[in-house]
Amino acid sequence: MTTQANSHSALRTGIDLDIPWALDDDRRTWRRTVREFAEQVIAPGATERDLQHRFDPDLVPKLADLGLFGMRVSEAYGGSPSDMTSFCLAIEELARVDSGVAVTVHVAAISAALLDHLGNDEQKRDLLPLAARGEAFVCFGLTEPSSGTDAGNVATHAKRDGEEWVLNGAKQFITNAGTPMATHVIVFASTGEPGSSGRRPVSAFLVPVDAPGFAVGPPYPKLGWHSSDTRPLFFEDVRLPAEALLGAEGRGYAEALRFLTWARLPIAAMSVGLSQACLDLTIEFVKDRESFGNKLSEHQYVAFNVAEMAAQTAMARTVTYDACWKYDHGVSYDQEAAICKFMASEIANQVSYRATQLHGGYGFIDETAVTRHYRDARILTIGEGTSEVQRLLIARSLGLTV
Ligand SMILES: Cc1cc2nc3c(=O)[nH]c(=O)nc-3n(C[C@H](O)[C@H](O)[C@H](O)COP(=O)(O)OP(=O)(O)OC[C@H]3O[C@@H](n4cnc5c(N)ncnc54)[C@H](O)[C@@H]3O)c2cc1C
Repeated sequence: MTTQANSHSALRTGIDLDIPWALDDDRRTWRRTVREFAEQVIAPGATERDLQHRFDPDLVPKLADLGLFGMRVSEAYGGSPSDMTSFCLAIEELARVDSGVAVTVHVAAISAALLDHLGNDEQKRDLLPLAARGEAFVCFGLTEPSSGTDAGNVATHAKRDGEEWVLNGAKQFITNAGTPMATHVIVFASTGEPGSSGRRPVSAFLVPVDAPGFAVGPPYPKLGWHSSDTRPLFFEDVRLPAEALLGAEGRGYAEALRFLTWARLPIAAMSVGLSQACLDLTIEFVKDRESFGNKLSEHQYVAFNVAEMAAQTAMARTVTYDACWKYDHGVSYDQEAAICKFMASEIANQVSYRATQLHGGYGFIDETAVTRHYRDARILTIGEGTSEVQRLLIARSLGLTV
């Protein structure tokens, strides 16, 4: 590996757009704080974590010191609730250097927020202060071996037995589940009798990872997000107390879906951060490397490609922070959530493709940062609702009966 490629393992300060209508001085200061933290603390080990497929637990207390795990937890339970814009700025800045770290924070934060929304006072008092300090991770257990997009088709089943519930089934692709901080998973399981649709209602349960009969499988070897932990879960006659039920019986899934519409916004922000990183790194590369006696950047085709990457990134950023602004101001944002998740994640794939192309052979070498971003981009159009689902939601928001 030459110095030229190695120089692309770290973040460079590039050109990114200010968003005057969405950012005030406090948010700009917050963005700068997270950016400096990301560059100084997260960036140096990013390549190594990626090559070693390693979640680094030592980063968690540092992320916690910055307050990142408490941003979606209410003050009464030890959090420092922030607006959506500030949360997304933080996720964007983390993804600019390491998307695996960004998704670790994202999933911990949305799961804690869901517990804050659905849990009883005792569960919240016991768990949320720890979650807000990054000392405990709550995980989100919805996807199953046989259903992801069709998430209401839940095979995992919880049966009432006297005062207890007995849980059987399996979950798949669960983020953070094998980390040392993981203490609980919010598990979605069918309960009761099938309704008119032929499906059983789906409830949510708070399940401790050390419950007898609960097993966490080995980490998946993945294309990207190597520094995040993803595992399958298995439940065999796991006995849970009545209070483990979160929210009303048969309502947990619907409640979670309604509450978590906002979770698409941080994935869009992650996509913006990844695109920005690809843009920064590519500008630096094409200004430095030469072909046919000129800098790459002096070939019009190359310069135009970079210009298009900048335009695409600006578009993704604008729709993302538009959705954040609407959420923060109590304006309806459902359509915007689907649009920004769809557009920003597709753009991240296009921009990272262009970045690897413009890096030539270096763009195919694992140690090159844009190669890592290219691999990390792939999941962005899949997780938190695929691009097909976002298209469905947008079409329905236009009154189309699809
Ligand atoms: C690294 C990683 C981390 C994850 N973390 C979590 C987590 O923490 N918790 C969790 O619960 N899940 C998690 N997931 C799961 C993720 O949310 C799902 O993979 C995703 O929702 C897609 O579901 P699926 O994999 O079952 O694909 P499927 O639902 O089988 O979809 C396959 C394809 O069919 C398309 N499709 C399906 N239905 C339709 C339709 N009606 N119209 C058009 N196209 C359709 C999809 O868009 C997709 O392209 C994670 C996944 C990964 C890879």
